[in-house]
Amino acid sequence: MLIFLDIDGVMAPAKSWQRPDILEDGFVDFSSKAVSVLQDVLAQNADTTIILTTSHKSRFSLSQWKIIFERRGLNVNKLESLNDNTNFQSRKVEILNWYASNDIHEDFIIIDDDKSLNDLPKFYKDRLILTSSLVGLNESHWADIQYILANSKNMAIFHEPPDVDFVVDPRPLSVAEEKVITDFIRADKEKRTRKDQKAKIIPKSKGNLLV
Ligand SMILES: [Mg+2]
Repeated sequence: MLIFLDIDGVMAPAKSWQRPDILEDGFVDFSSKAVSVLQDVLAQNADTTIILTTSHKSRFSLSQWKIIFERRGLNVNKLESLNDNTNFQSRKVEILNWYASNDIHEDFIIIDDDKSLNDLPKFYKDRLILTSSLVGLNESHWADIQYILANSKNMAIFHEPPDVDFVVDPRPLSVAEEKVITDFIRADKEKRTRKDQKAKIIPKSKGNLLV
């Protein structure tokens, strides 16, 4: 699984009334609630890759980021980052571009407080946990995360191109719909049987039946 992870407003809530706590590595501390939720998600999904989307992503190397996470209680084995955002792309465009240029066959979740992500195509938006900047990630998001994980299990099979919204409707057939299909199959079967029987009959001029 992939987690597109933002930091400000997600791991570190933006409390305008309070100076953020900066740890000795020079980076802001994470909220304990956000750490706890992410710890649980990582424990549940051992093969998770975190992809940093935060605007701070280029400030540190990936190995430095791993240490930053570790110091805040998160062991992240697989850590990647979106490319440098050199031309002021919105978070939405950054994620869509990354997705388009990488061949992804894994489930994913986007955890971010950036409202531009509300305009993501449905396929992506269905996997978005949009946090409130002032509160960040907390236990209230747990159920939504579980829901996304439970519903995206078939993603490897139903992989769709980035610009296509593709809806799988799991609704059971109604009785009337079932009847239409059954009738069609029956009629088709009868048609084939008649055709087969016809094929077994030798043209009249020869006057014999094939056995
Ligand atoms: Mg943010």
